[in-house]
Amino acid sequence: MIKLKSEIIKFSKMLNSKKLSALRSGNISIRYKDGFLITPSGKKYSSLKNKDIIFVTLKGEYDKRKGKPSSEWKFHQDIYLNKKAANAIVHAHSTNATAISVHNKVIPAFHYMVALAGGEDIKCAKYATYGTRQLSKNILKALKNRKACLISNHGQIVFDENLPKAFELAEEVENLSLQYITALKIGRPKILSKKEMNKVLVKSKNYKRG
Ligand code: 13P
Ligand code: ZN
Repeated sequence: MIKLKSEIIKFSKMLNSKKLSALRSGNISIRYKDGFLITPSGKKYSSLKNKDIIFVTLKGEYDKRKGKPSSEWKFHQDIYLNKKAANAIVHAHSTNATAISVHNKVIPAFHYMVALAGGEDIKCAKYATYGTRQLSKNILKALKNRKACLISNHGQIVFDENLPKAFELAEEVENLSLQYITALKIGRPKILSKKEMNKVLVKSKNYKRG
């Protein structure tokens, strides 16, 4: 468990250093036993210690004497309950993904790499107040057949089979968001067809990453 807590802290600091989330925004968790380990609420990542990482059960229980889990523990809980493939979750307020999210827009197949999120587009979950069960319901809807989505007027969320992969996916979503915004500035981007994206999705399954 200590190793997992250290991994969460390492990647939380990278939220700042890789410019995926400034200061205290965003949160990270890893599935563990019958629950998950998650970053605490409102703490600067630069000051995190192993004791600050909180264990929450899949029933939503935690030891209040050990501190406060992220205010978003409910959407982490609901993703682990509903997505077997989720072993780690990264939520970030990265600038470009957030900029698209405030328009409540999907990222269409303007680039074949959109397929990394699992389908032909990256959906945007409807807005709900942070930390609420309604927000996790909206997120689960946008994550249907996907492992990444934007969250309206908020940011982005991704899950994957481990934390390094989830973190990389969050970086890819941010990168695609920047590319999409840049493309929109010089006109109307050409969107790849459903057929082409299906081809890419099949091909990507066999694409080995070093
Ligand atoms: P926490 O510090 O409570 O995780 O809040 C950060 C955040 O991004 C809320 O959406
Ligand atoms: Zn947030």
